[in-house]
Amino acid sequence: MKNMNTRQWLDSLVSFDTTSRHSNLAMMRTMRNALHAQGIEPELFYSPDGDKANLFATLPAEDGTTQGGIILSGHSDVVPVDNQVWTTDPFTLAERDGRLYGRGTADMKGFLATAMAMVPEFLQMKRSKPLHLAFSYDEELGCLGAAVMLDALKQRGLRADGCIVGEPTGMRVIVAHKGTNLFRCRVHGKAAHSSLTPQGCNAIEHAARLICRIRDLADQLKAQGPYDQCYDVPFSTLTTNQIAGGIAINTIPALCEFHYEFRNLPGLSPEYLQQQIAQFIRDDLLPRMQAEYRDASIDIETGPAVPGLEASERQALTRLARALTGDTAVSKVSYGTEAGQFQRAGIASIVCGPGHIAQAHKPDEFIEIAQLDACEVFLRKLARSLQ
Ligand SMILES: [Zn+2]
Repeated sequence: MKNMNTRQWLDSLVSFDTTSRHSNLAMMRTMRNALHAQGIEPELFYSPDGDKANLFATLPAEDGTTQGGIILSGHSDVVPVDNQVWTTDPFTLAERDGRLYGRGTADMKGFLATAMAMVPEFLQMKRSKPLHLAFSYDEELGCLGAAVMLDALKQRGLRADGCIVGEPTGMRVIVAHKGTNLFRCRVHGKAAHSSLTPQGCNAIEHAARLICRIRDLADQLKAQGPYDQCYDVPFSTLTTNQIAGGIAINTIPALCEFHYEFRNLPGLSPEYLQQQIAQFIRDDLLPRMQAEYRDASIDIETGPAVPGLEASERQALTRLARALTGDTAVSKVSYGTEAGQFQRAGIASIVCGPGHIAQAHKPDEFIEIAQLDACEVFLRKLARSLQ
């Protein structure tokens, strides 16, 4: 098999529709086969339903050592293009004005493509330490795949000196990010013909009260802190992002379901917020609902939680990344990444990758070719530092 460059790899990776609701197996097998053809023995760690997989591969050191070294981490899935207006087909790479357009170019197939294209070069270097590739599934659904992969790697006794998560940071070194906590709330009222309101209990209306309360808490965090000015958004945030309810235009809805999230500064516990919401439900909302319908209820299910990241400036990985990129600014970001999970698993982690988060998840997502070039230079220096 002929080696492909970064552009060719990105062309290939973008052509797979790995929206999180689809299988990523075809794309992962393509990468596995390419690695296998170069004498590497990659492993696939499957999701519980077998529909998706993580790919893990070790490029051993010159003497065959597979322990230690650096992990290059990225996710294979992308967010949907539903209801977005794209100028070109999102799953066909298109070049315009020094940019490459396509779903996932920035977040984060650009990084995967760069890493894959550099494998032949990595293999030729006389390294005293290994490099590892850790490509996950379902990151966009709450970092589900990385959790499975980290469990499997723990069982195998893998040790690594550090992990670089290549999310789009414009090749800046990111040393901290917020935690992400997802919740699903179900408000159960009572259906009735909509002309007979006193006989029903309107789940949508009561859900709206709770959503407004969540917004009030968000405003409070914005106005009163705690703050950390190193973040782009320097306070914890709270927002409702999806809602469904009702079955007909003339029926009082018995059920309303919505999803909200909490992105906490690493110093503020997610439990604090849940206590505020639980208190409002217990003391205010539920009594009002039950006055209308005795069996009314509200349940909140805690979804996937991604721990925040706080990397020490003193750790070897941070110092190395700063030396290789020349970036000395302390930058922290509001979006979650798998770096928090790797750090929690005992592996020093930072976030540094090509492209910009501003283009992620949007129509006409793109990555500048110059960013891919900068990532190549960075990875080359990184691998050389392992000599
Ligand atoms: Zn991402």
